[in-house]
Amino acid sequence: MASNSTTSGAGKTILVTGGSGFVAAEVLNAFLSRGYNVRTTVRNDSSADKIKKSHSKYINQLSFAIVKDVQIPGGHDEAVKGVDGVVHTASPFLLQVEDNERDLLLPAIKGTTEVLASVQKNAPNVKRVVITSSFASVVDVSKGNRPGYAYSEKDWNPTPYEVAAKKDAPAAVAYCASKVFAEKAAFDYVKEHKPQFEITTVCPPMVYGPSGSVVTNLDNLNTSAADIYRLMNGSCKEVPETSFYGWVDVRDVGEVHARAFESPEAAGQRYLTVSSGYTYQKICDIIRKDFPEKRNLVPEGTAPYPDVYTLDNSKVKKQLGVEFRSLETSIHDMVVQFIEIEKATGKA
Ligand code: NDP
Repeated sequence: MASNSTTSGAGKTILVTGGSGFVAAEVLNAFLSRGYNVRTTVRNDSSADKIKKSHSKYINQLSFAIVKDVQIPGGHDEAVKGVDGVVHTASPFLLQVEDNERDLLLPAIKGTTEVLASVQKNAPNVKRVVITSSFASVVDVSKGNRPGYAYSEKDWNPTPYEVAAKKDAPAAVAYCASKVFAEKAAFDYVKEHKPQFEITTVCPPMVYGPSGSVVTNLDNLNTSAADIYRLMNGSCKEVPETSFYGWVDVRDVGEVHARAFESPEAAGQRYLTVSSGYTYQKICDIIRKDFPEKRNLVPEGTAPYPDVYTLDNSKVKKQLGVEFRSLETSIHDMVVQFIEIEKATGKA
């Protein structure tokens, strides 16, 4: 997708929650490049300092608010004051936790409703809140690979809360449920409280590509970047089984958030924000082809593309006018970034 550097945002301020995140870094870029002032919430000063470095080009448009936990009642009351729009990205994307309810479900769900409550109470100018949801909120994993089925915005993950909250439920199940309950809670909030704003939800599957976030430690990547880095650092001896057959570039996800904010048509909509299907086999093939120096660390396989569901991106393309980057471009650029970080951190 071509980068959009209009000045549609001049004079307006957007609050982005969770600015330290992998996805948020590109949400920041999409709004900053349009001329918006962006205030972002972080949990501590050290996260703010990292964002000041990664987004130094826009330092005069950036400000910060410390919110130690997204689910604190009234926690965003100050942060939302004076803003013209809100993008809520902060939510745990973790696949190893101690307690599914405490560590995944509650921060996602309460975090979302608390942000909305703060906006309703303290930010009268906000007419649109964009929420980062996920394909996790769409997919029905109990149906397996569903050959021939095309997931769309009409689908909702049907996992019951009690199943996801169980101590022994896999964290991946709880994470997916955290996204569907948070997204439903947001639509329910609007129905029940009739606030001054409308919401739009963005539902990406796995998000890859180079993010503008500061990475100082390749052993501590966010979940989706780690998902790719393991394929090129020697830790996978065989091509792993693919978990979700859909992906999108992080830069395109940032762009979709900005378009979802600006588009009148996006009010009350959800957007399945996907480039295409993929497998880890395809990704390994791209890395092996483009980076011969890494070939001995990348597993080699021959598995053909399986007969699995597809993800329908026609609505986001039509209504928001987006074109998505290809898997080849995204993975190539991401690996270039990993190699730069390896060199900078002495891991090369
Ligand atoms: P990251 O782990 O990089 O970012 C998560 C962000 O949420 C961080 O800013 C983190 O803050 C913040 N956060 C998490 N829990 C809390 C909390 N309890 N209180 C305050 N802040 C919190 O993940 P991603 O960038 O990948 O994910 C961002 C969003 O995108 C999430 O909503 C996720 O569900 C969604 N998403 C991501 C996909 C992906 O493949 N990456 C796919 C689909 C959706 P801190 O840095 O301080 O921990």
